[in-house]
Amino acid sequence: MNNNPDLLSVQDIKIEIKTKKGPVYPVRGLSFSLKRGQSLCIVGESGCGKSVTALSVLGLLPKSTFRLIHGKILFDGTDLVKLPENMMRDIRGRRISMVFQDPMTALNPVFSIGEQIREAIVAHGDTHPMTGKTTGTPGLKEWIVELLGLVGIPEPDRRYYSYPHELSGGLRQRAMMAMALACGPDILIADEPTTALDVTIQAQILNLIRQLKQKSGLGLVLITHNLGVVAQIAEKVLVMYAGKAVEEAPVDELFEAPFHPYTKGLMESVPYGLPLGTKRLRSIKGNVPPLDAIPSGCAFQSRCTQSMEICQRKDPPLSSLSPTRKVACHLYTDCAWKKGGARPTVGKP
Ligand code: SF4
Repeated sequence: MNNNPDLLSVQDIKIEIKTKKGPVYPVRGLSFSLKRGQSLCIVGESGCGKSVTALSVLGLLPKSTFRLIHGKILFDGTDLVKLPENMMRDIRGRRISMVFQDPMTALNPVFSIGEQIREAIVAHGDTHPMTGKTTGTPGLKEWIVELLGLVGIPEPDRRYYSYPHELSGGLRQRAMMAMALACGPDILIADEPTTALDVTIQAQILNLIRQLKQKSGLGLVLITHNLGVVAQIAEKVLVMYAGKAVEEAPVDELFEAPFHPYTKGLMESVPYGLPLGTKRLRSIKGNVPPLDAIPSGCAFQSRCTQSMEICQRKDPPLSSLSPTRKVACHLYTDCAWKKGGARPTVGKP
């Protein structure tokens, strides 16, 4: 019996955007899962569909433009895709919450930090994020101050009354995290939470996420383009390219032996040994194809140094190479070996 079933199970989702030139698909058949207390990093370059995926889990994609045309998003057994908006609103913030790259997009400039957190708690109930205990409204302010202290905001009783513009970028990010944790969610989705911050603050925020996860058993989905961040936080990694998963692995196995040529390219561009964030990832030759020009066959073919004839014809499915590893690349499929290609080793490349 599996004692830790999937808390979140995204199954073969396909998302359509309506454009004047016709529909395009930023996410094209993506599946992944997260267990309670697990941390998953979704990694890839800008435009690979990471953020669209996160917003779709929370039902936050603008309905006028985006449409989930296939797949299921199961949270604790409930398909969020079919949930009415009033029930989705209850799950959003209370059971699944999100922090964004730019806290100013989530914080209201005309209310103090404390008032905004109080609002979030009153709207959803008032369960303590770390203990699961219910706090009565009379003690709410003290509890919010405690929460602000917990996310590392100095002088939390004074900062309760601060407005977002009175805080530094790092403190705003911490305030947003306090708000995201206020209702004791089961899952925190963090979309590039440290990208806009300087290196020291990045490291502090990552540390904080790690500590909060350990204390509260929070499931974490962290979206990033930065493999340095992945190495610090992830247990499981999903590498995305052009709207699809191209590789999935436990973090230590991925760093030990990446399989997909795209993952290898990302790894080779990581400034190992240098402090996190001191160098941006060197880009792999070429760019992610635009949504209206994704080639048939493997979407990575124009940038891949190992591209073969079959790569232009057939899109490789994500296949299991071992109980823990999955990869979508013809280098690892029978058809390539049958044509006389060497079978790539499943181990250190
Ligand atoms: Fe390269 Fe072909 Fe593998 Fe795509 S399927 S990554 S083009 S070898």
